[in-house]
Amino acid sequence: MRYEGNIFRPPSEAYSLLVQVTVGCAHNKCTFCSMYKDKKFHIRKLEDVLEDLEWARAHYQRIERIFLCDGDALCLANSKLLPILERIRQLFPECERVTVYGRATDALKKTDEELRELYEAGITMVYMGAESGSEKVLADINKGETRQQIIDGVKKVEASGMKASVTFISGLAGRAGWEEHAIETGKMLSEMSPSYAALLTLMVDPSVPIAEEIASGRMELLTPEEVIAETLLMLKNTEVTKKCVFRSNHASNYLSLKGNLPEDKEAMMDLLREAMDNHDMLKDERFRAL
Ligand code: SF4
Repeated sequence: MRYEGNIFRPPSEAYSLLVQVTVGCAHNKCTFCSMYKDKKFHIRKLEDVLEDLEWARAHYQRIERIFLCDGDALCLANSKLLPILERIRQLFPECERVTVYGRATDALKKTDEELRELYEAGITMVYMGAESGSEKVLADINKGETRQQIIDGVKKVEASGMKASVTFISGLAGRAGWEEHAIETGKMLSEMSPSYAALLTLMVDPSVPIAEEIASGRMELLTPEEVIAETLLMLKNTEVTKKCVFRSNHASNYLSLKGNLPEDKEAMMDLLREAMDNHDMLKDERFRAL
């Protein structure tokens, strides 16, 4: 397989074949994100992608999962994605799922029929970064999408048959905005009703713009205890009616939370309250990672 630059994938794609169909992120302006800052966005040539798939077929016996990289591969037109998905079907009949990163605005640019086509051609899930339910935070981090666009994009993906796995980031508003970030994120999660939601905790690479805000004092990072309080407030503000698999067990998190909303909401909140009284439950800073 040929790859350009560093490759990123969701933790749940650890055993997937990673196939780069785009390089970088077409937006690439979020102030907290360092993932694709070294890459200039472009679309890989179809023949190169197909050659990589042939190579993988020749070298791997069984491929059950495929993740299409890079940062927002859903931005590809269906005329480019569909031939790739068709070749995947032909070469890997054993493949159970194909997944991809996508921005809400990528989903909104496609028609309902186009999203349905992608689902029928094999894409089962789209990983989407919402980051925050707060309009102010979204503007501050230069997300390039409004709260309503993110909600609509997630709903549109779910309506097509594909699942949406949506990521939020605790600590993203700093000390000045944590309450609004928590409340609005909880409400947004309830409103968009994704099949999966993940909560990471902010970790700052020194090269990203938000690092400068912190260094200058314009943004104050939350302490681990404050992150736990923020997560508690966020969960308190969820009113999920359709089952949502909730995870906050990433290497960046201070406390591991796993459960299904709404039924495990109280148990997860109890664990957070326990951690607020017992700081030994929190991960040591040295063991956190992105
Ligand atoms: S967070 Fe996502 S959309 Fe924003 S720059 Fe990074 S990869 Fe692109």
